[in-house]
Amino acid sequence: MLVIMRKDSTTEECERVADVIRQMGFTPLPVPGADRTAICVTGNHGPVDPSYLSQLPGVVECIPVTKPYKLVSREVHPEDTVIDLSGLSAVKLGGRDPVFIAGPCSVETEARTLEVARQVKEAGAHLFRGGAYKPRTSPYAFQGLGDEGLLTLARVREEIGLPVVSEVVDTESVTAVAEVVDVLQVGARNMQNFSLLKKLGDLRKPVLLKRGLAATLDEWLMAAEYLLARGNHQVILCERGVRTFNNHSRNTLDLNVVPLVRRISHLPVVVDPSHGVGKRDRVRPLARAALAAGAHGLIMEVHSHPESSYSDAEQTIDVPTFRGIVRDAAVLSGLEPLFER
Ligand code: PEP
Ligand code: MN
Repeated sequence: MLVIMRKDSTTEECERVADVIRQMGFTPLPVPGADRTAICVTGNHGPVDPSYLSQLPGVVECIPVTKPYKLVSREVHPEDTVIDLSGLSAVKLGGRDPVFIAGPCSVETEARTLEVARQVKEAGAHLFRGGAYKPRTSPYAFQGLGDEGLLTLARVREEIGLPVVSEVVDTESVTAVAEVVDVLQVGARNMQNFSLLKKLGDLRKPVLLKRGLAATLDEWLMAAEYLLARGNHQVILCERGVRTFNNHSRNTLDLNVVPLVRRISHLPVVVDPSHGVGKRDRVRPLARAALAAGAHGLIMEVHSHPESSYSDAEQTIDVPTFRGIVRDAAVLSGLEPLFER
């Protein structure tokens, strides 16, 4: 249940409501919002009786929440969440302008990584991506450069001036990765690694949460709820394709989830057409489609020499193709907006 407070309610009134929620055996969680003050009741296993709470001073109304997730839903937080990456650049993710995240699958040698970063920045990237720690299907595949890769990402931030997104694969490496990166990526294989989600929920840094390999929309949103429930509201959802019977592509990019997520949740959603299709010749068409469907941005594997990528070479596009996608987005921005909030 959501307790909506009067706009001019006092701190004492809000604290009183929180105390009563605690006395009822539940946990109160304040929901930040521009237009109203709200307190979410969590920890209940069934409907909460609103009769006492709704009479407390400062309370406007008590709204039952019908979904299994609360803090990620628009019922609780009606306005879009916009994530401000202004620490390094004036990038806002979740607003009208699409955000481009580009770079190699894995961080490679320092010289090559800086070269790619320089080129994608010049082509229109707002953030740089690259895994220092890689979750690989085969134990014999390249596992990433680890801490050495993090040092290279730090140089990308400092010398090229691009904020960086990189994956955190386990709870042990959270601190090291969080020290360097601007956005922590949770990979598809870790979407339901709840101890990792809890640890990231305790940070106050943006998290890009990839949809699991075969996760339903509810499972994905519940994973995001883990982060918000611990106070980290800077969550970016990322659709990256799911496993289906199709054998013509690595995954099936589920673009029909994009407008649905935008209706149900206030969180920004980006699409990863690279992992979604797995073949470089189809990345640009799907990138266009994702933006047309309402994605707030794209995360893509881009390289100065795609064929020599340390990982995911087949799906990695070259810089001219990336530049073409940025141009496509400029054309698409002339479309009537799908979501008016
Ligand atoms: C990646 O971004 O390189 C990656 C491993 O992605 P996913 O978790 O979506 O497979
Ligand atoms: Mn990859």
